[in-house]
Amino acid sequence: MTSLLFPLFADLRERLVLVVGGGAVAQRKAAALLEAGARVRVGAPELSATLAAWAGQGRIEHLSGSFVPEWLEGAWLAIAATDDAAVNRAVADAGLAQRVWVNVVDDVDASSFHVPARVERGPVQIAISSGGGAPMLARHLRETLETQFDESLGALATLLTRERARIRKHYPDMGLRRRFFDRVLSGPIPSLLREGRIDEAQRAFGVALIDDKPATPQAGAVALVGAGPGDAGLMTLRGLRVLNEADVILHDRLVSADVLRLARRDAELIEVGKQAGNHHTTQDRIHELMLEHARAGKRVVRLKGGDPFVFGRGGEELEVLADAGIAFEVVPGITAALACAAYAGIPLTHREHAQSLRVVTAHLKDSADALDWQSLAQEKQTLAVYMGVSGLDVLRDKLIEHGRAASTPFALIENGSHREQRVVTGTLADLAERARAHNVQSPALLIVGEVAALATRLHWFGAAPLTDVPAFDTHTFEISSDTAFAAAA
Ligand code: SAH
Repeated sequence: MTSLLFPLFADLRERLVLVVGGGAVAQRKAAALLEAGARVRVGAPELSATLAAWAGQGRIEHLSGSFVPEWLEGAWLAIAATDDAAVNRAVADAGLAQRVWVNVVDDVDASSFHVPARVERGPVQIAISSGGGAPMLARHLRETLETQFDESLGALATLLTRERARIRKHYPDMGLRRRFFDRVLSGPIPSLLREGRIDEAQRAFGVALIDDKPATPQAGAVALVGAGPGDAGLMTLRGLRVLNEADVILHDRLVSADVLRLARRDAELIEVGKQAGNHHTTQDRIHELMLEHARAGKRVVRLKGGDPFVFGRGGEELEVLADAGIAFEVVPGITAALACAAYAGIPLTHREHAQSLRVVTAHLKDSADALDWQSLAQEKQTLAVYMGVSGLDVLRDKLIEHGRAASTPFALIENGSHREQRVVTGTLADLAERARAHNVQSPALLIVGEVAALATRLHWFGAAPLTDVPAFDTHTFEISSDTAFAAAA
């Protein structure tokens, strides 16, 4: 059996550590050591400007010249961070002889200790080692872990450290103490800390400490979360964390399967997609479901495509919660206009083409007359239109009638940011025809304005924009990037 490295967290306060090297790496190591309270000695013929400044301020000791084993005298640890392998080896050998632990940067074999990749949250540190052989993997793991924990973990550790003596006094028995911790960690305290409500968290802790019974049933709450346009990577870290804590998730049909996969395994998923035609009953039902689960003490996530406040009826849902006295929070998401523009290569307010962006929706069949077409048709503005694909004729007619040039470019983005994204471009005059010719389906977002033409040059994601009317009937084809390409060619 190969032996494992033994992990340890060392108390370096007031202890001498030697860093050999005067460049950027040595400086980084010295900074980390100073943070740990170590006395830092840097040995090198020349120092970086920052290291020289630190030496000048007396924050570090500087030994000038080339490495000699005497530099190690009195040191507990040493780090060899020069770009000369022979010097680094000499430090390692001298360390071995003098029983000083030595880390040689980027040299596993020469090192007698390794510096782990780490995630820090206040006093909490998670250290990761791949055994020294695959530092990139350790780094990747670190990045993954970074997304899982926010600063509240540090606040929690600080609170528990401060209360340690009190907790031990109250629960001398280990088993009881563990149950107490379970109660505290699954109760409201972590989320109070996450919201920065330190005093309330402290009070809740005081109550939990005296209250021997299981935590009083937690009041339910609802988080209105924007899931972004589909690509799970476009969800915010905060949204991800809230999703991870949810007991019940009420999601729209627009929310992609990739995003739903991020939810806690045992969360209850309820699809509340609205069918056209019975909007109202369904919206009422959504309100009922939110109230019902929140009142039962559940942590409810109301998950919506894009951003919950952009054509998402998020406001109405919050009003219902506010009236019922149920706590809520809102986590924004990347709305379709921003995501589609980014993923189609359309800079929405490119300064040569547009001074403003209008974000509009229209179910044009019913409400075309209610819109201020005069202002929508103005030049030098980009329109981002959230809608079904059915009202495009009306939209084109009205815009042109009110003065927007028939030659104004458009881009219609279907399934923006999804793997199957398609972008159809053209000019306003044949907007509806081109949408029909390519059989564009919902969800699709329309961008009208000079900036739309940039998609042809700046597209980077998925298939190239479809710039021509296809020579064959795409209705009968499964659209793959190949057929899209054939259509574009
Ligand atoms: N709250 C959502 C919008 C809901 S309205 C948001 O902020 O994005 C639904 C409309 O959004 C759809 O008809 C379509 O126009 C647009 N939409 C949402 N997701 C989209 C996507 N991935 N690609 C293209 N359009 C999208």
